[in-house]
Amino acid sequence: MLGNGANVQTAMVGDLVGTLGSRKIKISDVSYCPTAKFNLFSLSLMLKKGWVMKGNEKEIILIKDNNPKKNMKFDVVVKTARGVLFCTRIVPNVIEEMSAVSSDVNEGWTKIMNVGTLHEQLGHMNEQTCRKIAKQVGIQLTKGSLKPCEACAIAKSRQKNLPNKLKKVTIKDDTAKVDEINEMISIDLAKIGTPSNKNASDPEIRNPNWTMIHDRATGRKFSDFYQNKNMMIEPTCEKIQVWKDEGKPVKRIRCDNAGENKKLEERLKSVDWKLGDIKFEYTASYTPQQNSRVEKGFETIFNRGRAMLVAANIPENRRYLFAKEAFETATKLDDLTVVEFKGKEKCRIQHWGEELPSYVHSMIPWGWAGVVKTKRSMSAKLNDRGTVMMMVGYADNHTGDCYRMYNDATRRVHISRDIRWLDRMFFSKEGDVNLESTRKSTARQSKQMQ
Ligand SMILES: [Zn+2]
Repeated sequence: MLGNGANVQTAMVGDLVGTLGSRKIKISDVSYCPTAKFNLFSLSLMLKKGWVMKGNEKEIILIKDNNPKKNMKFDVVVKTARGVLFCTRIVPNVIEEMSAVSSDVNEGWTKIMNVGTLHEQLGHMNEQTCRKIAKQVGIQLTKGSLKPCEACAIAKSRQKNLPNKLKKVTIKDDTAKVDEINEMISIDLAKIGTPSNKNASDPEIRNPNWTMIHDRATGRKFSDFYQNKNMMIEPTCEKIQVWKDEGKPVKRIRCDNAGENKKLEERLKSVDWKLGDIKFEYTASYTPQQNSRVEKGFETIFNRGRAMLVAANIPENRRYLFAKEAFETATKLDDLTVVEFKGKEKCRIQHWGEELPSYVHSMIPWGWAGVVKTKRSMSAKLNDRGTVMMMVGYADNHTGDCYRMYNDATRRVHISRDIRWLDRMFFSKEGDVNLESTRKSTARQSKQMQ
């Protein structure tokens, strides 16, 4: 339907306020697609609202209240493969309005997609969790339930080449009740293992020590990666201080009795931090179920991250390299999970008093390929096509839609918002780097339009 291969899954519906000729108009239920040349709107809806349709081979005219002055002419004829489109040129009141809506949650635009697409974009959360998030953030889901996800099935069945500490734990129903955010947090550490079959030329992973902090009250999680275990101490003190300043002081910390945790307690009590009123509750390191919540947190994020790595076709001997980015993204996306706290159902991040992140309405599957335009004015012509890179996450502290893009040639991550998505994974099914910068057929898009 949209001949330029526009990806209709990102369509939104909303009101368009603009100027037609010299008249100001407002049209409801316009479908908007960021990459399409046209915005579509529903004729049947206009007819239901009392407009009358007339037309011939040159134009379609809508008239309201039998008043010839209240009309809309669609007299721009665009030929397509199967027929013609009747169009009209409406200048939006705010030029940016139609192109910038994706980052604005409150403008009344609704994103429409199927639950399978959302499942992939949210990093392979279960169907119920996806549906609750959709409702909460204003994403409209099309009919139909989630089909079995191959990546999820593989991720759950195979244990190869991924962090090695994570073992299955029985979830002990801990009745420790908390009323406030950060009243109790858990801290735990896992290590991303390097596979035995990695190529000799492949780099070592720099920060394999994964620390997860988990807030008991809302289930919000924080993932950080460090070169060695003790390096988590100062940044964790800092985090706890920031939370205190924000009025969310930590009261209890549950962790195992490993050396780095003991040192963390010492540091918090030191004159540098003066956070000695925080109570430490140590669990023996050989009984992970005592600290079940964070273990469960690890496992949840771990399974999602692993599904993301599988879905992105990352070859097994390179998964350890991308694991950090996948787990970080999975942790970030988990902030959107809708939970009940103090009698209200909201996203975890909203319970913390924070805005929904702007990427909520511009999420794309982790591992997608996109052409990143590299700005070099001196050689603009040479760089017209840009570089094909892999999406490995959403950038922190950037307004609008900034992505973390991995360049395989330089093995560096770039922060960019100027990206043309190729609607496919960066790695091919066979696990090869695919640098083809043109988009494939539109078959998939037109199917989604139905
Ligand atoms: Zn999945």
